[in-house]
Amino acid sequence: MQKNPFREASYLLNAHRLDQLPPDAGAEIAFAGRSNAGKSTALNKICDQTGLARTSKTPGRTQQLVVFLLDEAHRLIDLPGYGYAKVPDKLRDHWRATLDAYLRTRESLKGIVLVMDARHPLREFDRMMLDFARATGRDSLCLLTKADKLSRGEAARTLHAVRKELASFAPGAQAQLFSSLSGNGVDEARGVLSKWLFAAD
Ligand code: GDP
Repeated sequence: MQKNPFREASYLLNAHRLDQLPPDAGAEIAFAGRSNAGKSTALNKICDQTGLARTSKTPGRTQQLVVFLLDEAHRLIDLPGYGYAKVPDKLRDHWRATLDAYLRTRESLKGIVLVMDARHPLREFDRMMLDFARATGRDSLCLLTKADKLSRGEAARTLHAVRKELASFAPGAQAQLFSSLSGNGVDEARGVLSKWLFAAD
């Protein structure tokens, strides 16, 4: 069986500012999503580890970029969950600016994984992230999580509808079903991420 490079992921640091990130070399992938979409659970599942990304919901603490190392040259970045009503305006403004600067300037960023609850896809923030990705020439992969909560028919219809919308406003963006509970879509996601991370090696 092929080795899963994501199993090697280990926590490196939390960055409140971009200058606290590791040097902009090698390759990294950022995970974004609305709070509670299932981002931490998806990260843990992809990395085959239970406690890597924290699923705790303390707003202050989660307003940071969390860096995980796969090896010296490859990283996963957990972006702050979006949509927290409790985050003070000032912190939210700081974050919008930081996120914007990160996406515009980070050369080692090879792609963005956008985690969306399959029952509520393509909300306002999701569309903003996809716009960012397109505008800055980044690849993106939409994971429609908690797919286990939909019937097969509903899941297939959702995937079809999301792909259709993406084709019109975010061409090139990929979408797939994902369930941390059943494992559906996990290998598929690893495949896309591996290509982004290791293609240039
Ligand atoms: P985050 O805020 O986006 O990091 O969301 P979490 O990963 O903490 O997940 C939010 C809630 O959704 C938790 O209660 C998870 O157990 C649940 N959850 C996450 N992924 C799945 C999934 O694939 N299926 C189901 N049924 N629940 C999930």
